[in-house]
Amino acid sequence: MTISPGFTGSPLDRCDDVRHDAAKLAAMRADPAAGLLLLDKLDPVTDSTGGLAWVPLSEAPQGVELALLGRLNGAPSFVALTPGVSALTRSFALFAALAALPEGEAGTYAAARSLIDWHARHPFCARCGHETAMFRAGWGRLCPACDTEHFPRVDPVVIMLAQHGEGAGARVLIGRQPGFPAGRYSALAGFLEPGESIEDAVARELLEEAGVRVHDVRYVASQPWPFPSQLMMACIGLTDDDRLTIDHTELEDAKWVTAAEVAAALAEEPDAPFIAPPSHAIAYTLFARWLADRTA
Ligand SMILES: [Zn+2]
Repeated sequence: MTISPGFTGSPLDRCDDVRHDAAKLAAMRADPAAGLLLLDKLDPVTDSTGGLAWVPLSEAPQGVELALLGRLNGAPSFVALTPGVSALTRSFALFAALAALPEGEAGTYAAARSLIDWHARHPFCARCGHETAMFRAGWGRLCPACDTEHFPRVDPVVIMLAQHGEGAGARVLIGRQPGFPAGRYSALAGFLEPGESIEDAVARELLEEAGVRVHDVRYVASQPWPFPSQLMMACIGLTDDDRLTIDHTELEDAKWVTAAEVAAALAEEPDAPFIAPPSHAIAYTLFARWLADRTA
């Protein structure tokens, strides 16, 4: 059973020192071992071994801007910036391709995807409206008119289980959004707002979406989610009251499930009371960790 969160474990050395050193960056670009990540717009392309496909950097098209991902197994690794792409677009075929990548490669891909998307969406200065230019080897954009530095954004999201009861009687709250595939339920989730802690956001979202008040919120794990650039932070909170008041603008349904029911869903048993999220989603990790705690 997979318990490591998806999109994690990349062996990428991000080489922060090179981002600030033009000579080092030039040397990496001139290195014969330097590679360019091959993408189909923003979707991954795989090589004959099933891993991410790379081409020699010397084969990069003329005129494209190159951002330094870092070093992978010693090789300088770059991505081409592509105006107009959007990391919001995703398909079941994309998820199938990601699930088939060797361990750690989805994390490398996630960094590339979110970075390229951010550049495509931020050609102008948010402060003065002037055109910005890439700097720090691709890990920022600088406005030449007002000197404002802009950095790739990450949007924090909390995703959580409320737990009611203890021991063999413990149950957790799951919910489904209207757009989910038939039968799919997941953990509830929502964006953090300015001025909130992770614990505050977990408590607010559970109260807003399901009418459940939690205490003793604990952090479990996190994962990047490159659609386009969220950081998913998974938590579990305890509640003493299992009554639900569902906000149907957010959720189609929500219900409490036992450890046996979660185990059946993760095992993809045909009579399981719900279909679990895919293994690269941190909700899956959250369910798996909660189950592991039950049986520890
Ligand atoms: Zn500006």
